Amino acid sequence: MSDCLFCKMVSGEIKPDMVHADTDLIAFRDIHPQAPTHVLIVPRKHIASLDTARPEDAELLGKLLLAAQKIAHQEGIAASGYRTVNNCNADAGQTVFHIHVHLLGGKKLITPFG
Ligand code: AMP
Ligand code: ZN
Repeated sequence: MSDCLFCKMVSGEIKPDMVHADTDLIAFRDIHPQAPTHVLIVPRKHIASLDTARPEDAELLGKLLLAAQKIAHQEGIAASGYRTVNNCNADAGQTVFHIHVHLLGGKKLITPFG
């Protein structure tokens, strides 16, 4: 997707503050962090949102969460606690339409519900 911000990060056209990369996904620091650790985990494959993911994406979706676990340990926030968030479409506040998981931690997090 040539006009997708996160595809440009996957391709290297835009270089974010990367914390992890492998064959399936990249992870980088959010430009407007909401917590001391705020990392975005993004599959290399362009999937617009959770709502457009397909059954064949199941393994990839699982890898996003396992990457969050790995990065939480890397960042030293695993024992204190962390949160993973996926915003899907407008009411949830999705602004970048390439699926991603937010990893947040390093402070006591207020409730995300409502
Ligand atoms: P969402 O609102 O769930 O779609 O999340 C999109 C996230 O991307 C927001 O938290 C933004 O702060 C973040 N973001 C937007 N542009 C950049 C960028 N250039 N580098 C890193 N994070 C970004
Ligand atoms: Zn994309």
